[in-house]
Amino acid sequence: MGVHHGQVLRILRDEGPQSRAILARRTGLSATTLTHVTAQLLADGSVAEVEPAASSGVGRPGLAIRLLPNAHHVAGVHIGAGLVQLTVTDLLGSPKAAASFEFALPDTSPEAVTARIADEIEKLKLLARTDHLLGVGVGVPGPVDAGQRTILASINTGWRNLPLVGMLERRTGLTVVLEHNVTAMAVAEARFGLGRGVPALLYVYLRSGLGAGLVVDGVPFRPGGHGAVELGHIQISQNGPRCSCGNHGCLESYVNERVLMRALGLEGSAPADLLMQVENTDVWGPTLARLTDSLAIAISLLTPDLIVFGGHLADAPESLFAHLRKHLPPRVMPHMRDILRFERTGFGSQLGAIGGAAVALDHFFYSGARY
Ligand SMILES: [Zn+2]
Repeated sequence: MGVHHGQVLRILRDEGPQSRAILARRTGLSATTLTHVTAQLLADGSVAEVEPAASSGVGRPGLAIRLLPNAHHVAGVHIGAGLVQLTVTDLLGSPKAAASFEFALPDTSPEAVTARIADEIEKLKLLARTDHLLGVGVGVPGPVDAGQRTILASINTGWRNLPLVGMLERRTGLTVVLEHNVTAMAVAEARFGLGRGVPALLYVYLRSGLGAGLVVDGVPFRPGGHGAVELGHIQISQNGPRCSCGNHGCLESYVNERVLMRALGLEGSAPADLLMQVENTDVWGPTLARLTDSLAIAISLLTPDLIVFGGHLADAPESLFAHLRKHLPPRVMPHMRDILRFERTGFGSQLGAIGGAAVALDHFFYSGARY
């Protein structure tokens, strides 16, 4: 039965208030079933009845059904290399409270990180003024197993076959789901950001590494059940520098935070305007060329309608976007040249945590699982 609730909730999320007649037509449910489903959603407090915006015919139109975004909340967590960001959001992915902490690698154990995450979630519940969460979505660095419970291998943290869901569920008492962290960002963008209504969205994220995520027709692309599009590990030179994955000459071995910081003569935490500073160095031209080469391959293989940039790429100088707009179209099939768009994420620095929340909402609410 829950699957019907999920159908109705997703339409209300994506298209706003709807009459019962339209919901029945769109879902293919009988009037009796739809009445039953909406009655449960009304009793649960997830939706409310409202006057329709405008009458569309003769006679008095029925009341419309609308989602109540503050009816429930979820927690979203982003785990990056040495950084955790957390948020509690409403049903539309809007943050109600946020927090972050850094952890030292490789010294900090996964147990210590999960204990701190559980503590921070308790604090966020107070800040967000909610005493109940539907669940927790965690974006993790590296591929996850098909059941979305275990981190298979995270190069930057050194975590392998780590059963993070079990660890976090014991600590928090909440239901938890994992997703590859850049795929989670792509899900957030597809549900609540620039990717709404876009058939194929490719998300590209640069921080300590260069990751990507893909959502096609609203569904996260999870090749082999692992949920990672390894754009950063496209090999662009067999004789290139050794990559964190053990191979040589991957895109990420040239375009990552550490290498770009070295080009600036800097060490330590990267500044927010990292690429603005790199623009004035000798590394900028080769960096643009390598990004263009790799994105041309990705576009030919994945045919995204929209590419959204996050992390340092979201704060890149306009010259990066001008370069891509000029040099990418001639490198791809003619039908892709007209439809391809590039944008900076609109979620700012909280995008990873909102990604985790978007995954939690997919699993624990918009699937209808709770009904
Ligand atoms: Zn690699």
